[in-house]
Amino acid sequence: MKTVFVVGAGPAGMFAAQKIAQAGHQVIILNRDIKPGGLAEYGIYPTKDKMKVGLRKQFAKVLALPNVHYLGHVTVGQNGCLSIADLRNLEPCAIVFAVGAQGTKKLELEGSSARGVYSAKDFVYFYNQLPPFTSQDFSIGKRVAVIGMGNVAIDIARWLLVDAPEKAAAVIVVARRGPFEAKFDKKEFASVEGFLDREAFQRELKRIEPQLAAVGQDISKVADETFPVLKKAELQASEDSRLLFRFLSSPQRIHVDQAGRIERLTVTENLLVQRGESTACKATEQTADLEVDTMIFAIGDVADPSLGLPYGKDSYLINPDTSDAARAAYEVFDDVRSCAMQGVYVVGWARKASEGLVGIARHDAEVGATHILKYLDCTTSKEIAVDEIKRHIEAKGVRVVDKADLELLARAEEQQARERNLSWFKFSEDEAMLAAIEAERAKAGVLV
Ligand SMILES: Cc1cc2nc3c(=O)[nH]c(=O)nc-3n(C[C@H](O)[C@H](O)[C@H](O)COP(=O)(O)OP(=O)(O)OC[C@H]3O[C@@H](n4cnc5c(N)ncnc54)[C@H](O)[C@@H]3O)c2cc1C
Repeated sequence: MKTVFVVGAGPAGMFAAQKIAQAGHQVIILNRDIKPGGLAEYGIYPTKDKMKVGLRKQFAKVLALPNVHYLGHVTVGQNGCLSIADLRNLEPCAIVFAVGAQGTKKLELEGSSARGVYSAKDFVYFYNQLPPFTSQDFSIGKRVAVIGMGNVAIDIARWLLVDAPEKAAAVIVVARRGPFEAKFDKKEFASVEGFLDREAFQRELKRIEPQLAAVGQDISKVADETFPVLKKAELQASEDSRLLFRFLSSPQRIHVDQAGRIERLTVTENLLVQRGESTACKATEQTADLEVDTMIFAIGDVADPSLGLPYGKDSYLINPDTSDAARAAYEVFDDVRSCAMQGVYVVGWARKASEGLVGIARHDAEVGATHILKYLDCTTSKEIAVDEIKRHIEAKGVRVVDKADLELLARAEEQQARERNLSWFKFSEDEAMLAAIEAERAKAGVLV
């Protein structure tokens, strides 16, 4: 039996682990969060219960495989309890990095460290109750600028308008290009369409009509192509909350009030230009000011450089070998030694940040796993004692969470849900999860 470390237990890590384990190898999953699931647990919209429950069941099946081991609450990297060198010293046959896209895309704007300015990833972690984000300040004001026009921006608008305990009065989606370049799914937009301020939207279309016409875009087609809501009868608009769009605008400067919170956003106004098949934007000298007290960047994420893998522009380096490009695309490349890192792979959003839904991450991980399995054929067997690794990490003062602990935690959360008469309950702090595990363990001990 050969041993493979899988770092990260989001969809990519779990489905890669499944494929490698089903081929008969031992898999040891090391995961930063106590619970598995990654963004499936802590990113997907909280009320998408059916999808979350379905994915949890699939992940539970992977963990039920006897040759899959789980070590949660274990961060790998420069800021973690194990470095990549530590992992390699343990001599697994291969290491698969499925750590997602934990870095933040930086726009380097003046004022971006102001209170009330957040990255989408951190904000969705916050409302999905991932520690430590749950206990950090993600306070929302009355007027929120959400930068970006993809599904994540719409999820955030939905939270702010529909489910947040204190709802925003206005959410302004700020997009560098125009309405025809909206990237969200129409189905996702349906969750917020009732909040769209139609009059303001028509005024905005009129404002940008000349710039759209310059690249052959016709505003009368917006309803057919990207905003079908405009063809529907207007619902009773919400009195308290509105959804607004500001197209052809890129954030330029964040103005900060005396308390250190964002009070205004200056945007650069853009033109559209045709670049081959696609429509790009070009900054003008003109600017405009948006009165906002909160700003959330939903412009995609990048790979986390602090993990310690060789890093290029926003992503880990992969093998540029073109003779077997399909395989090489999953191998990490050591640019110092100018060769592939033997047995070190990336899959899912760690390979291509913010690329697609769970199904895409799963497919990517499974394709990656087929290459890893071929590589394993050429290595010699080595089984590593999981308990030894666990003890090695625990010696660094980390409380490692294993499969048995996850079952105890699930039991404790179910119990809390019953007591509070809720359909589900999640502990939102690591300490609370660890205490619940200990309490369940003690109870089980008493019963034995
Ligand atoms: C806001 C939002 C909403 C979404 N909604 C949907 C949806 O409705 N439907 C859908 O199909 N898809 C949705 N997606 C996309 C989906 O979540 C991703 O496709 C998928 O989660 C990517 O999987 P992954 O395993 O590559 O990364 P992730 O899910 O990010 O998993 C990464 C894992 O790595 C671990 N990790 C990170 N760093 C380290 C480290 N240094 N050491 C150890 N472990 C580490 C993390 O704890 C995590 O468990 C959404 C994404 C976002 C951001």
